[in-house]
Amino acid sequence: MFDKILIANRGEIALRVIRACREMGIKSVAVHSTADADAMHVRMADESVCIGPPSGAQSYLSIPAIISACEITGAQAVHPGYGFLSENANFVQIIEDHGLTFIGPSAADIRTMGDKITAKETAKALGIPVVPGSEGGVPDVESARKAAADMGYPVIIKATAGGGGRGMKVATSAADIDVAFSTARSEAKAAFGNDEVYMEKYLQKPRHIEVQVFGDGKGNGVHLAERDCSLQRRHQKVFEEAPGPSISPEERARIGKICADAVGAMSYSGAGTVEFLYEDGEFYFIEMNTRLQVEHPVTEAIFGVDLVREQIRVAEGLPLSFTQDDLQINGHAIEVRINAEKLPNFSPCPGKITAYHAPGGLGVRMDSALYDGYSIPPYYDSLIGKLIVHGRDRPEALARLSRALGELIVDGIDTTVPLFDALLQEPDVQSGDYGIHWLEHWLEENL
Ligand code: ADP
Repeated sequence: MFDKILIANRGEIALRVIRACREMGIKSVAVHSTADADAMHVRMADESVCIGPPSGAQSYLSIPAIISACEITGAQAVHPGYGFLSENANFVQIIEDHGLTFIGPSAADIRTMGDKITAKETAKALGIPVVPGSEGGVPDVESARKAAADMGYPVIIKATAGGGGRGMKVATSAADIDVAFSTARSEAKAAFGNDEVYMEKYLQKPRHIEVQVFGDGKGNGVHLAERDCSLQRRHQKVFEEAPGPSISPEERARIGKICADAVGAMSYSGAGTVEFLYEDGEFYFIEMNTRLQVEHPVTEAIFGVDLVREQIRVAEGLPLSFTQDDLQINGHAIEVRINAEKLPNFSPCPGKITAYHAPGGLGVRMDSALYDGYSIPPYYDSLIGKLIVHGRDRPEALARLSRALGELIVDGIDTTVPLFDALLQEPDVQSGDYGIHWLEHWLEENL
């Protein structure tokens, strides 16, 4: 059993992990950059270590600095949170080489799923339905033209090493393919240092449905139903819910079992998410994320389980604390991502918080590292909080979200709260009738 865990992250997710550690009687170590000396995760952890200057590359992404922090503090295990080093197979390998435990899947599984082409091949071999597309990478524009002609326009060109919605370009006809191909490649090169791209049929009005899975590393896998994350801006999620309003119990059981069996067959260890596009009753795998996701709390809400606790248990070699049959959905949960951004352009808006008040009451959870007087540094992601509500059904969750947003006070900076206030007035949002392009269209018309 671990008695000390180091959290290689910052912000709300660092707090999330510290909270789970504390409930389990495990000591926590925060790491931070010089810009985060006053951050909440530093205050809340049992110990903290400064690991470098503000830039992420020199602090939260610095593997030597994080390993040194483990050695100095005697932490036995590392929780990576999401982002930063959470899906870096090399990091996992180095942690293990130092006799420490990575709280997450094996380096090999991370590597397989981190390369989107290998991920798709693996998924297919495991019986998971995938989006039709190129077989493997597309080396040049002639091959791209040919692949597009074979699958039919529109097509999407995606970076093999992609993430965070970057390096993706849509070509609607043969006239666009040259530009789309070369832009996707150069964006991929710039963002990931790898210009390999592949192609997929571009689905016109799918929903984004992702299945939460968990493996015990010994061949057993379970699923914790799905989240619908269709409301996206520039391929980035802003509003997530569980269960998916468009998914029937039969479809849930069917796709859930496929994913759980796949995770079992991989002897996968810990939390993972199998992402699909869903159109006309069919699921199409796009990728698997081998980490805890930002939106995991909606799943926690409807199942009443602590996914971070479960990750830690599995990393300790313990069995899962639930079986598939124990996992029964209770009600409906919604999360909104509160970003320090100024509408209508969503430009980053760091700065000093002059007043902060978190909403509360029945079915309300606010995961945030904000406090009165805190200065949001300009160096990191703009996510400053997640508001999660849980109700007996979707209408109750929506009403609760509206009520909770009304109680939230974040003064001194601009946030994305007004976006959610406006979205909640929309009949399509109220009825859950939207695909992945709905929000982009709405933003064009309304902001
Ligand atoms: P990333 O790893 O960058 O998040 P994903 O492969 O998960 O990339 O895709 C992110 C989003 O891009 C999806 O949720 C969807 O909105 C859009 N997208 C990806 N592939 C397709 C596709 N084949 N057709 C339509 N939209 C797509």
